[in-house]
Amino acid sequence: MLSLLRSSRLIFSLVSTTLIIGITGCPQSVSLSGSEIVEPQSAQSNVSPAAANRAATDVQALVSLGPRVAGTPVMDQASAYLIEEYRKAGYATKIQPFSYSKVEDQGSNLIVERTTITGRALNGSEAGNLSASLVAIPNVGQISDFEQVNVRGAIAIVERGEIRFSEKATNAAAAGAVGLIIVNNAPGDFSGSLGDGFDIPVLSLSQEQGRPLLKQAEREQLEITLNVNITERTVTGRNIIAHLAGVDQPSILVGGHYDSVQGSPGANDNASGTAVVLEMARNLANTPLAQQVWFVAFDGEEDGLHGSRAFVREADSQFLSNLKGMLNFDMVGINSALQASGTPTLTALVGTLDQPVSTVEGGIGGSDHVPFASADVPVLFFNRGQDANYHTPNDLQVEADLLNETTQIGLDVIRQVLGSR
Ligand SMILES: [Zn+2]
Repeated sequence: MLSLLRSSRLIFSLVSTTLIIGITGCPQSVSLSGSEIVEPQSAQSNVSPAAANRAATDVQALVSLGPRVAGTPVMDQASAYLIEEYRKAGYATKIQPFSYSKVEDQGSNLIVERTTITGRALNGSEAGNLSASLVAIPNVGQISDFEQVNVRGAIAIVERGEIRFSEKATNAAAAGAVGLIIVNNAPGDFSGSLGDGFDIPVLSLSQEQGRPLLKQAEREQLEITLNVNITERTVTGRNIIAHLAGVDQPSILVGGHYDSVQGSPGANDNASGTAVVLEMARNLANTPLAQQVWFVAFDGEEDGLHGSRAFVREADSQFLSNLKGMLNFDMVGINSALQASGTPTLTALVGTLDQPVSTVEGGIGGSDHVPFASADVPVLFFNRGQDANYHTPNDLQVEADLLNETTQIGLDVIRQVLGSR
């Protein structure tokens, strides 16, 4: 499947391609737009109101900057805010720059019966302007679903859900489709990515626009024109690394990404995780444990885990093998159920905690812990599950209580791993 263009991207490992594994999301509770913060119920009674609000205040500060897209001026403000907060807590900070090429949508759509329907090119999609018949794919586009229809030389249309965008695109291309349309399974538009580039153009449609078209294609033969207009540019991202002066080799690395997707203020994805990591740092600052922990705000996650991939790529093997754990926090601001997945030795440890967190066996999800896991670092991924506002303009809300609960659970895990309980 690898086209010549993509293989040339792979050669320049210093400039990695756009690759996002989407993280699936969920509905929210309280709004955080403007200056409103809902007072947390302070599950941790020993936490002062000011302290109990710190993480929520961090989320508000990051959300108020607008969408935090990697390589844009907003990221200068976001990184400056984080650096200032880490320094106020007593930590030394450094910026780790990295660069990668990014595909940008210059306006993509499809035309059917002289009607133009606007959509979004998925990251990693091939550019293309082509006309062909439209074939509806049953269910969610598993291999067995494509086997039920003839999509050779046609454009496939399928619903979002269950399997990753990249799997749907792989199955479509393997079945001979020359293009793919993915229809949202929730109201509104969505952005997403496929992983290292694909040979066919792939367009996302909102549920409102896409579902009627999918239903029509199930009933009748349609001819459409698919226009995926994308350009490529080099993006420079900046990881923010914080640790106490002189701590060159941590035992634990705690992280979360601080970038968001185009058009989304990213309160839950992922100002929530960024704020929890910062709040954990504040809590540990004046304790001996801080001598063994690094805190990292990763950039470029939404474009393909670029910040965490750059961190692992540039770390020496001794540094990585000395890590007892990488704890990643992504989308921890809404939904009551906190989940932890990852390396069994660490999930087993989480299972011993007397805290409201459940462990998930099997798949570890797709976020910044993945490059560390690939480098054999034990990992834990903390997430609160589905979010209907994921990657939309409505991702404006988190719950201060859940941020504080996540912080306390993260601190408990660190104490357990470092045997300081
Ligand atoms: Zn995220």
